[in-house]
Amino acid sequence: MKKTLVATTVATVLALSACTDNKPAAPEQSAAAPADAAAAKTEPAPAAVTAENPLLKRSSLQYQAPEFDKIKTEHFLPAMLQGIEEHAKEIEAIANNTEAATFENTIVAMEKTGDLLGRSSGIFFNLSGSNSNAEILKIQAEISPKLAAHSDNINLNPTLFARVKAIYDNRASLNLDPESLRLTEVTYERFVRAGAQLNDEQKTQIRALNEESSKLTTKFSQNLLQITKDIAIFVDDKAKLAGFSEAEIAAAAEGAKAKGQDGKYVIEITNTTRQPALAQLENRELRQQIWEASAYRGTKGETDNRPIVARLAEIRAERAKLLGFDTHAHFSLDQSMAKNPKAVMDMLGSMAPTVVENTKKEAAAIQDMIKQTGGTFELQPWDWEFYAEKVRKAKYDLDENEVKPYFEFNRVLHDGVFYTMNKLFGISFKKRPDLPVYHPDVEAYEVFDADGTSLAIFYADYFAREGKRGGAWMSSFVEQSELLNDKPVVVNVMNIPKGPAGEPTLVSYDNVTTIFHELGHGLHGIFSKVKYPTLAGTSVSRDFVEFPSTFQEDWAAHPDVIGNYAKHYKTGEAIPAELLAKIMKSRSFNQGFDTLEYMAAALVDMEWHSIPAGTKIADVEKFEADALKKHGVDLAVVPPRYKSTYFSHSMGGGYSAGYYAYMWSEILAADAFAFVQQQGGLKLENGANFRKNILSVGNTKDPMEAYKAFRGKEPTTDGLLIRRGLKTAVN
Ligand SMILES: [Zn+2]
Repeated sequence: MKKTLVATTVATVLALSACTDNKPAAPEQSAAAPADAAAAKTEPAPAAVTAENPLLKRSSLQYQAPEFDKIKTEHFLPAMLQGIEEHAKEIEAIANNTEAATFENTIVAMEKTGDLLGRSSGIFFNLSGSNSNAEILKIQAEISPKLAAHSDNINLNPTLFARVKAIYDNRASLNLDPESLRLTEVTYERFVRAGAQLNDEQKTQIRALNEESSKLTTKFSQNLLQITKDIAIFVDDKAKLAGFSEAEIAAAAEGAKAKGQDGKYVIEITNTTRQPALAQLENRELRQQIWEASAYRGTKGETDNRPIVARLAEIRAERAKLLGFDTHAHFSLDQSMAKNPKAVMDMLGSMAPTVVENTKKEAAAIQDMIKQTGGTFELQPWDWEFYAEKVRKAKYDLDENEVKPYFEFNRVLHDGVFYTMNKLFGISFKKRPDLPVYHPDVEAYEVFDADGTSLAIFYADYFAREGKRGGAWMSSFVEQSELLNDKPVVVNVMNIPKGPAGEPTLVSYDNVTTIFHELGHGLHGIFSKVKYPTLAGTSVSRDFVEFPSTFQEDWAAHPDVIGNYAKHYKTGEAIPAELLAKIMKSRSFNQGFDTLEYMAAALVDMEWHSIPAGTKIADVEKFEADALKKHGVDLAVVPPRYKSTYFSHSMGGGYSAGYYAYMWSEILAADAFAFVQQQGGLKLENGANFRKNILSVGNTKDPMEAYKAFRGKEPTTDGLLIRRGLKTAVN
């Protein structure tokens, strides 16, 4: 069965968030994401759902690309409900088979189930993240607990588990090939981790906890969507926007107009604590207003996320205890590369003092800059980026506005990202305007292998708009599987602010690297070459999944790549070597802040999930403050990248006790990238090694074994420290 159906039904929504960035939010092109009126359009109320529901059958388009031109919002709920029913029947038939359990009639049979549910929920949850509206939110609230219950019905079915266990117990004598053996183990673990070995009373408890958790995580994310709308900041007076470029002011005016506030300017709040506009706005009061809107999100009124956060932590602790683990962190990490919370705490703890020391130096330099420019106040969080930009400029003589004209969106994508993938893997991307899309901003591509073989369909959805979650991620509509003869259909979603109407979109260097990053995930799906859908593509542990994506980021600055795409959007002139050198040098600036805000969030996430069952958390803010203090990362001017009330990774569920995974993956990525440079850099042989040993194997192998097959040995942290400017390369 499709992995999203049983392993992570509740987290389906969150599985999509597998990739929100961990990178510093460098000043973005525009603080005001132009709202798109079309995105907010809702479908008319359904008259009746008839047999014409396109979700009920497999799409006739290539590789089952979704028929977005035919799918309407009202089709989702009936299709998913029918999908649950059909899937339940298929599973019952396997459980009640009178023949003795075999790998084929049980484990493989399960892989083949859930076609309708997988298709309909896959499309639905993709759209709920990237193109949501009121109707979709309503359906999501209704279907999520039903999916959680359905998932429990399967995982807690004793007859079915008895069959799985019989195969698992005899696996050594069944002559299974390595992939089939791994599937058997992964399937068995999934049942055990869901509570299959518990007694009836405990199973009832688990079901109740799952259902409550599903409702709460849905409410948490829906609150965030609502809050993002509610706290957008409208400015009356253009003079207050001093620091913004004319184009950014125009975009802010367009955004306000689209929200029915013609004549004003809107500044949208993006998902992290720090806000892009803070780097630019000269008006200190407005900066404070923006920062406070961001940092106090989810702490009041009907969208107060604090009780949800506290309760989710309690629920997860209870569940972990029922399943035989000390804490949720132990439960969560058991299946990861890190294996246990201690390994994570050791990794973060060993870095904390160096990072804090660097950050304090940065703070001192910023305080100096405030003084030099006539300020008499003490540095506050809303000042950091504004004055850091000034320090950056003074130290590196770099002006973001000077840089951006060299990063025009189309050149970045085609001459930068696609070009690199062609040089490394031989693949090419061909536009497929004939395939329907779910929003006019989305483009469909077909991906071809070096020998011309068609590999996959790839959707590119790069621009910010209303109805889209913050952040960036990759997801699949169809997972690759030889068993089901399925080819991958994947999507990359980002929130790049679109240029004003009629103007090109200029991308920050940070977003340039994020496009590389997301396509790195995309290729993990596209190059998947496995038999069983459960083990396909990105179905790897969280602390491994960010490795193939982070690995691709550094090509953005590689000399063989940047010269090909960083050209002035007006003149076509290549980026001057001197400016390029400045960009690269300035990348090491502010690394203390960037690393510390990330580590603070990762530690808060670990602490929330390290409480023993039965602990009641009365004060969410105090719990967070205590956690930061405990680990010595409590610098008031460097708050966590996300606070608990808007920490979707941690509280939404997808990355609970797993936010550390970005840094873990970065260790692998930096080590791998350095290795590839030693092997000659951007060339097909290196791509072939990476594809064969990492990208194509999905979860058919132990991740460390896969890594060693590629690299020849285990990774060290040197690459990461050098990459972050915390250590100097010796050769
Ligand atoms: Zn990612």
